[in-house]
Amino acid sequence: MDQMTTTDLWSGAVQDVIAAGRRMDRFGWVPATAGNISRRLPDGRIAITRSGGHKGCLTQEGVIEVGMDGKAVHPGDRPSAETLLHCQLYAHDPAIGAVLHGHSVASTVLSMATTDGALTLADYEVQKVFEGQTTHDASVRVPVFDNDQDIARLCTVVAPELGRMPAGYIIRGHGVYVWGATMDVALARLEGLEFLLACELEKRKLRR
Ligand SMILES: [Zn+2]
Repeated sequence: MDQMTTTDLWSGAVQDVIAAGRRMDRFGWVPATAGNISRRLPDGRIAITRSGGHKGCLTQEGVIEVGMDGKAVHPGDRPSAETLLHCQLYAHDPAIGAVLHGHSVASTVLSMATTDGALTLADYEVQKVFEGQTTHDASVRVPVFDNDQDIARLCTVVAPELGRMPAGYIIRGHGVYVWGATMDVALARLEGLEFLLACELEKRKLRR
C-alpha cells in the first residue's frame, strides 16, 4: 500500500472518530472526559481517542494509534485504560470496524438499580436495529458487568459473552459498549440501545 493511501485511510478513520464524538456529545453520552471511540482501519491499524479530553471537541491530535495489545504505537501517546476492551472486541471478530463507549444517564442509573447480570428489553419497535432481531416481538438481553478499574480483569468477565451480545453490553454504574462493522452501524446501534434504555428509565418512573 503506498504512503498516500495509508495516510488517507488514517485521516478517514480519524474523521470518523471525531464525528462520532460530536454526535455522542450532542446526546449527552460523553460528559466531562468520559467515553472512548475507536475505528479499525482495513489494514488493521486501530485509531482510538487519547486518554482524557472532551469527546465532543476532538481534534486530529486527540486520536492515536494503538496495537492489539492496547499499547500506543507512537512513544509519548497515552491511550485510555479502557482501550483493552476495544481490542478485545476487535480480536474476537475480524468484521468489527468501530467500537463506541459512552457514559449516559440511563445506562448508569438502570444498571445501578439492579444487581442482575443483565437488563432485558422487550416489545420495543426499535429492537430491530440489533443484529438478528427481525421483529419487536422478542426480547433483547443486554449483559451488565460489575465495574472494575482493573480492565484486564474486566476483559476476562466479558469474554464468555462475546458473540452473544447483539445490543452491546453495560458496565454497572459506568456506561455502554457498542460496536459494528462500520462507524455508521455502530452509531445506529448505540442510538438504538440508548433510546431503549431511556425509554426503560421513563417507564420505571411512571410506575412509581
Ligand atoms: Zn468509561
